[in-house]
Amino acid sequence: MPLLRATNNPRRLNEIRVRVIDDPNINAANAGGGEFQVTTGLLAKANDEHLRGVLAHEIAHDDLGHVARAQTLGTGLNIGVILLEQLFPGSSAVTPIAGALIANSYSRSEELEADRHGVEILRRAGYSKEVMIDTLTWLLQTSGGDSGGGFLSTHPGIEDRIDALRKLA
Ligand SMILES: [Zn+2]
Repeated sequence: MPLLRATNNPRRLNEIRVRVIDDPNINAANAGGGEFQVTTGLLAKANDEHLRGVLAHEIAHDDLGHVARAQTLGTGLNIGVILLEQLFPGSSAVTPIAGALIANSYSRSEELEADRHGVEILRRAGYSKEVMIDTLTWLLQTSGGDSGGGFLSTHPGIEDRIDALRKLA
């Protein structure tokens, strides 16, 4: 998994868990301890590049040790395995599990930091910062109307974050 190998503190694949949440909103979270959560709404609507950008951002939160302030949002069901297999290829350690979304609310500075570090991780894995800019722009356009449970509700200030990434060298 190129993105996971590009972190400052690489986790072993057998430490990684991906939980798929049955929620039509587009969202993703880092639940701490190597567990990442994605909603079925994200898997259904994101293309590969958008999913890569979202995961780079969440992996960056994990790599930077941002503390997850958890709230539970709904219950889950296990689908979307095929898409996840492309991102975490061939690892039986990656077990999509039904569960509840951990909605982390981060501070604005943590969001900016995770975007910047996400770009660094993408670059180490051979991608450009445009992946992150395109992903945030897509999230803004696609989940802009979400009142609850969407990416924007747990990852605020997205317009400013896009501007900050454009200025990044
Ligand atoms: Zn974030």
